[in-house]
Amino acid sequence: MALNKYMHPRNIYKTPPDFCKLAKQFPDFLRIAKTDVTGKVSIDFKDPQSLRILTKCLLMSDFNLDVDIPDDKLVPTLPLRLNYILWLEDLLNSIKKDDVKGLDIGTGACAIYPLLAAKKNEWHMVGTESDADSFLKAQENIQKNKLESLIELKKNTSSTLITYLFTDETPYTFDFCMCNPPFYSSLQELYESRSPARPPPKNGFTGSPHELITEGGELKFCRKLLKESKEQKDKIRIFTTMVGHKYNLAELIQDLKADKIIYTHTEFCQGRVTRWGLAWTFQDYNIHELVPSRDKLRKKTLPLTYLLPELPNCVYNVETAVTKIKNMLIDLNMMYKVIEKRGNNICLDVIAKTNTWSNQRRKKRMMKRIEAENVKKIKHDTADKVDAEQHVNDAVDASSSLISNGSSISPIPETNDHTQNITETEHVIHAILKVIKKENDVLLQMELVDGTAGKEGLHQIIQYIKNNWK
Ligand code: SAH
Repeated sequence: MALNKYMHPRNIYKTPPDFCKLAKQFPDFLRIAKTDVTGKVSIDFKDPQSLRILTKCLLMSDFNLDVDIPDDKLVPTLPLRLNYILWLEDLLNSIKKDDVKGLDIGTGACAIYPLLAAKKNEWHMVGTESDADSFLKAQENIQKNKLESLIELKKNTSSTLITYLFTDETPYTFDFCMCNPPFYSSLQELYESRSPARPPPKNGFTGSPHELITEGGELKFCRKLLKESKEQKDKIRIFTTMVGHKYNLAELIQDLKADKIIYTHTEFCQGRVTRWGLAWTFQDYNIHELVPSRDKLRKKTLPLTYLLPELPNCVYNVETAVTKIKNMLIDLNMMYKVIEKRGNNICLDVIAKTNTWSNQRRKKRMMKRIEAENVKKIKHDTADKVDAEQHVNDAVDASSSLISNGSSISPIPETNDHTQNITETEHVIHAILKVIKKENDVLLQMELVDGTAGKEGLHQIIQYIKNNWK
């Protein structure tokens, strides 16, 4: 797995779990395990039930936790959850070692963070939850593991995230808070985040709308937490949250900088997916010095830059260039979202779920050949009194599917957010694309966030844009 080497050094999942051992240990795992001709044991990661069983077995074998993960709820991926906890350990290390008290905002049906934190570190945890169903399930999971003495659950029926906890009668103080906010802003956004034309993600889709959706998406959720933190400065020593999108991290850092609040951030790397952790404090310690920045572990790369040539009969400015590029992204079946318009610059967040750009010429040639062959066939069939029109349509459909590596092309409306689902699915390319005006030139810049195609894939996309810049 590409990013595993950047996992937290103490993360036990830096070494992938031994599936053979799990199959011997757990009959449920044996049921879902498949052995290939070389004897390698694997499971179907696309199947939510298999993911559920894997997670359940790992929780038992690695943490001695017996967790019930309901069918309709999010399956918490453990390498990421552990990365977050390990970062918190590092943050707290020089502040407090014993009697640590933490708050998990939106703990979910598995109460995964409180269970791990209590079992692993004996931290006292309060988990909050607004969904009645998840709240009950979380309670059952805590009782099942006899961790009631370390974990308390609080139902949140208020419109605040933390403020309701701090009334005079219940003067809670915490060493830290943590949060895995819902990522999506609407049900529509959640559905649109995956075009039906796309192949399914490597990991199966799990989670209920309540877990995945919050009005305004994660940015609004995190901003609300930041606002409330300013009013509850002394109640929590270190405020933290997970951030699912790099551009939201950048926005939140801007907010913290504007308020001159001390902050630090990190990357949670696992599998082929990156998430971010953001921490801030109103206390008197330099939290950015508490933990060596893990960002530095990864080699920083400069964005790839291409000078977009001026075209005859075409206005040479950022807007026109962006319109052209958006059309190309649609042709490539890539998802995009405008994340920033500042002065002369426009910034897009871009995601490709499949490689649709390489071997374009080969694919075009094949498409033409198939079209020609089908047209020939239609002529022949017409003689046989077959409906020719339908065949032409079929021919076009067949060739389009070749362009997009098997998935048919569907234009993606601007409103179609690319936002990932919370099960940390993979993409081939996730990049930030900027079109900027520099003196008299219009430049295209692309910076890789993550993705299996890596920088090579980014080069290929820029090459595609170069080839089609006419
Ligand atoms: N922490 C879990 C679940 C994350 S999903 C994990 O990492 O797997 C987000 C959770 O936040 C959902 O269970 C949702 O019901 C809950 N939630 C959303 N808004 C909330 C609020 N205002 N207060 C408490 N919980 C909330």
